[in-house]
Amino acid sequence: MENIIMTGDRPTGNLHLGHYVGSLINRVELQNEGNYKKYYIMIADTQALTDNSKNVDKVKNNLIQVAIDYLSVGLDPNKVCIFIQSMVPELFEITGYFMNLVSVSRLQRNPTIKDEIKQRNFEKSLPIGFLNYPVSQAADILAFNANIIPVGEDQLPVLEQTREIIHSFNNTYGEIFNDIQPLLPKKKICARLPGLDGKIKMSKSAGNCIYLRDDEKTVKEKIMSAYTDPNHIKVSDPGQIEGNIVFSYLDAFCQDYHFEKYLPDYKNLDELKAHYKKGGLGDVKVKLFLNNIIQELLTPIRQKRAELEKNIDKVYEILFKGSEEAREEAKKTIEKMKDVIGINYKKFLKN
Ligand code: ATP
Ligand code: MG
Repeated sequence: MENIIMTGDRPTGNLHLGHYVGSLINRVELQNEGNYKKYYIMIADTQALTDNSKNVDKVKNNLIQVAIDYLSVGLDPNKVCIFIQSMVPELFEITGYFMNLVSVSRLQRNPTIKDEIKQRNFEKSLPIGFLNYPVSQAADILAFNANIIPVGEDQLPVLEQTREIIHSFNNTYGEIFNDIQPLLPKKKICARLPGLDGKIKMSKSAGNCIYLRDDEKTVKEKIMSAYTDPNHIKVSDPGQIEGNIVFSYLDAFCQDYHFEKYLPDYKNLDELKAHYKKGGLGDVKVKLFLNNIIQELLTPIRQKRAELEKNIDKVYEILFKGSEEAREEAKKTIEKMKDVIGINYKKFLKN
């Protein structure tokens, strides 16, 4: 079977380093390998409205920012169909059919949804649309019959819901959907990059992010104030690596060549960690090293962004064209669904 890849992001903020290691690198790699029949990337504006219904400006303004982030990390609209969720209304229609196959209690048991409800103080008043987003996400994937889904770890329970919908739909009406395969980053730390506060994953909604668009000064300030080991007070104190955000980021981003370039006293990360644990290595030195690595990564992305910002219309045009293409595909899926459900009335005509 030829691969159909599908993934996306909510336009609730600029993309951050968690997206970069958790998903964007994988996406660019898949694009460059070229081993696929179709490749869709969706900006999930209607999903973002499920927890931002009164904050439309945020969603609207970030939509273009996310698109610029995509293009600045190297996603190529000639190879990938980038589209806007709300411009493919067929996705709502597909969601409607899937909603009959999922119970409310099943959605309430979803561990990612449970966490997100708490994080958003939705315990007392939960929007139906928010609870339902795993169902609409299944529609986003299955509208294109995608089989490879590059995501971060937090999305696994949501994809499990898609799997259940596939089985349920195929068993109830007819086998039209293929199984899906989540594609996680190779390194564990990259599948759920922690936020600067060291408490939860880096997340736009939690405001604990280093954004791809942050300028040099902001990135440095954020790194210098990142959470480390609260008991590592004097340079001579032994330090802890576990839960130390600066080392988590080094695990995610650092390569051996960075030592040669920026910190030649050490050969690799294991040596640096050993010194930190023993004592005698200050946080500032480690943070400055991390800052060099992150700035090296972000500089070309910032340059590309500055170019794209000069012609925003062109970016919108890419999204509109992609949305039309995605729409054509989703329409075909609805026809197939109606056929097997048995409500494709046009086919009932004798002549
Ligand atoms: P929000 O707080 O609005 O939910 P988010 O920061 O969680 O935003 P999403 O748009 O929900 O970002 O996620 C887009 C993709 O990025 C998903 O595949 C998700 O798993 C992945 N992702 C998000 N945050 C991280 C992270 N900290 N580490 C690794 N992957 C992540
Ligand atoms: Mg999220």
